[in-house]
Amino acid sequence: MSKNLTRRHFVSTVSAGTAGMSLSARSGFGSTVRSESVDQELALLGGKPVRTKSFPSWPVIAENDRKSWKQVLESKNWFRSNGHYVTEFEESWARRLGARFVVATSSGTSALYTSLFALDIGPGDEVIVPPYTFVATINVVLLHHALPVLVDSDRETSQIDANKIEAAITDRTRCILPVHLGGNVAEMDKILEISQKYKLSILEDACQAHLAEWRGKKAGTVGDLGCFSFQASKNLNSGEGGAIASNNAELMKVCSSFHNAGRGYSLAADGKLVRKRNTTFSYERNGDNRRMTEFQGSLLLEQLTRLEEQARTRERNAQYLTRRLNEIPGIIPARQYEGCTRNAYHLYMLRYDRSHFANLPRSRFLEALRAEGIPGSGGYRPLNKEPFLKHTLESRAFRSIYSAKQLAELEERNHCPENDKLCSEAVWFGQSKLLGPQSDMDDIAAAIRKIQKHAAVLVKAG
Ligand SMILES: *Cc1c(COP(=O)(O)O)cnc(C)c1O
Repeated sequence: MSKNLTRRHFVSTVSAGTAGMSLSARSGFGSTVRSESVDQELALLGGKPVRTKSFPSWPVIAENDRKSWKQVLESKNWFRSNGHYVTEFEESWARRLGARFVVATSSGTSALYTSLFALDIGPGDEVIVPPYTFVATINVVLLHHALPVLVDSDRETSQIDANKIEAAITDRTRCILPVHLGGNVAEMDKILEISQKYKLSILEDACQAHLAEWRGKKAGTVGDLGCFSFQASKNLNSGEGGAIASNNAELMKVCSSFHNAGRGYSLAADGKLVRKRNTTFSYERNGDNRRMTEFQGSLLLEQLTRLEEQARTRERNAQYLTRRLNEIPGIIPARQYEGCTRNAYHLYMLRYDRSHFANLPRSRFLEALRAEGIPGSGGYRPLNKEPFLKHTLESRAFRSIYSAKQLAELEERNHCPENDKLCSEAVWFGQSKLLGPQSDMDDIAAAIRKIQKHAAVLVKAG
């Protein structure tokens, strides 16, 4: 087996350039807004901040959330098999996505882990993943004792560079796991084409992409399976929670079964997946408990009533902000591929080019921004340089599955120079900053202009 596993077969890359990228126009807005505040001294140096109001808080709650939550509490049916909220949420989310099936899970990580189980990913397999993602995307591959093969980022979009996927495929590659990072969408046409050519499955990590779309299809329904997270920061939130969406009944039978201790599921006459009830207990396969509670299900049903409107607000504000920021030299908002027909804007992502800011380091730029009343983040660090990956690959399990040569080669293959650069220049604003009035976007743009104008002073001040 090990001989077989070390045989490598690389496929040459097809370079298709970066055609098909949509470019935002750099016109239509003057620099008239708040020019005075831009001229004032930086807040970091004791001046008056551009903004003192806070941004919208997250999550949004109202009477319907309280009522529904209390109903679950008082019903005493907190477990999904005794209640109906989780099942209703699954049906509701499936309708919203245009998917045949949805299985709710305890988290987005659980959804991904369960999906890889259903796709039969295990020791000896390679899964193609982006380096620019939340660590869970890579953790789930390692938890199945498969190898995560990183394909470098496209800095323009912050997504996996689909033009580089083919070069990473070997005879051990089984699955492509694209992430729709920040609610933007990975280049799915190319990913679908490659998956068909090499007979690979596609698992979409749509944990940040609720209601995002690729050519009118919802993110998470383009590949074989798609995963969502409802963790507290996400655009649809129940504290913790997740879901798997798919049109594939066979895969979803396995997902349902695995997430519920291996109990058997079958397809009912009405097209729904149901627990097999012919015997009291029948365990068909190795399974786990990745179930969602009724509390989460009830909350998600209520939160879901606001999702579309919130998505529209984020989209409107983000598009306006992009127009404002495109006027500022050295601020480069993330682009979308032409096939991305809707961006969920879980994150507003841009790149900061310090050469247009008197060489002010990004960390100092973020501090100055925060002082002006605009908290932002520098985003992810390069995951291929984090200790978890090295430690896992050095573990007894991995050393018994893979040869030393194979593991050493993986480290080489996982270099991602473009991603390293992206990690050093990214600036993010979280989704809830996009939920207020348009004037909030003007504040963000004004604060950045102000810092640019006084960048040299700040550099001098140290
Ligand atoms: C949040 C997130 C996950 C994991 O979701 P949890 O619900 O926190 O387990 C996975 N992938 C991405 C890209 C995420 O943003």
